[in-house]
Amino acid sequence: MGNLIITNALIIAMTERVSFYGYVRVRDGAIAEVGAGAPRETTKDEETLDGSGCVLMPGLVNAHTHLYQVLLRAVWEDLELMPWLKRVYGCARVLTPAHFYAGSLLGCLESIRGGVTTVCEHNFLNPSPECALETIRAMRDAGLRSVFARTIMDTGEIVPECTKETPEQAFRLIEALLAQHKNSQQLTFMTGPNTPPINTTPDLLREVRRFADAHALGISAHVAESKSVVEAVRRQHGKNGVVEFLHQFGIPAKNSIFAHSVHVSQDEIGILKETGSSVSHNPVSNMMLGDGVAPVVEMLRQGVNVALGTDGAASNHSQDLFDTMKAASLLQKVHHQDAGVIKPYDVLRMATIGGATALGLNSLCGTIEVGKRADLILVDIDTAHNQPINDIFSQIVHCAKASDVRTVMIDGAIVMRDRQLAGLDDRKILADAKLANRELLERVSGLAF
Ligand SMILES: [Zn+2]
Repeated sequence: MGNLIITNALIIAMTERVSFYGYVRVRDGAIAEVGAGAPRETTKDEETLDGSGCVLMPGLVNAHTHLYQVLLRAVWEDLELMPWLKRVYGCARVLTPAHFYAGSLLGCLESIRGGVTTVCEHNFLNPSPECALETIRAMRDAGLRSVFARTIMDTGEIVPECTKETPEQAFRLIEALLAQHKNSQQLTFMTGPNTPPINTTPDLLREVRRFADAHALGISAHVAESKSVVEAVRRQHGKNGVVEFLHQFGIPAKNSIFAHSVHVSQDEIGILKETGSSVSHNPVSNMMLGDGVAPVVEMLRQGVNVALGTDGAASNHSQDLFDTMKAASLLQKVHHQDAGVIKPYDVLRMATIGGATALGLNSLCGTIEVGKRADLILVDIDTAHNQPINDIFSQIVHCAKASDVRTVMIDGAIVMRDRQLAGLDDRKILADAKLANRELLERVSGLAF
């Protein structure tokens, strides 16, 4: 791994609400020096990367997605959560490991091209163990910092039998993954109930908490995404909300990340805060499925850590976190009918250090600080839609586009340089994904939903 120095960039370190022109020095994959102005000297053993005309900022953290779903962009539209989920789950009957690899690799490609350096893959369909293995292989081949949240379903009318597991079956497979990747700093694991209570029994929730504690794993779950899920928890368990229901099993905790959390009460926000749980806000997916508006402002005011996610492309339809940042900002403004209710810097925090914190990676990434791993992006702001710069935080959230990302570094390795991918073959990935998509849709057309 080479040593290098990035100079002349407008630096947004995300440690405080300031920006400055300066340089960042990278040694052995870590940030070794951050300074204003020009460096006093450059050494012979380091490459200089000129960041003129660019913002240098921490790589974006996509805290909740399902990468393979890029194969299912715009396939099931105009459906609310339950009928949509029935199709997404039903698809497990025809999904193969090859679909997971081709789709996930395209998802990774889109992520890197859009400045995402960390992805949390919330994995929930495993008709065979190889599906998880192939998703992990894609994430590793792409060079992304990855969290693989291997979740479990053990019940549910709309869940195909091939994806239901007993806790013992699932835990055995997760233990095998942990053993196989125990020395990887760039790939970590979580577990979780997929969408309680509609596809998880109370027994599973108890077992998941026990298993997570035994292996020091975080928990990822879809929580209170739509009103229908809250109605299910009321009907089946007599609880007022999903967070309240999960609380009795100790699922909300410091290392838990709850995707969506759209329909949560003030009391439940209190539980999130008190337990140190994080939320992944996925505004584009929530809008696409007509779920509702997550109480993000209220969560931030109460001090809940909020991250940002795209969710899968079957409900987004992209993996674009710039899009997601803008949507997150505008959605709260219109929802509260208050233009100042959320600040661009808060949204940027959600997409960087908020995500890193939610995934237990805040000592490694999420800000530009000496000692952290070098997960950095250069964003070209010298363009018609970005200039002139008056408020860089607002303009990264509201003006910049994923396609403005010029260079991406993960763990000190340049994975994209001036829009050229270092280790990935764009054309082959696209061709393979198109083939996988055609094959998958043909198989899907034979399914009855
Ligand atoms: Zn999801």
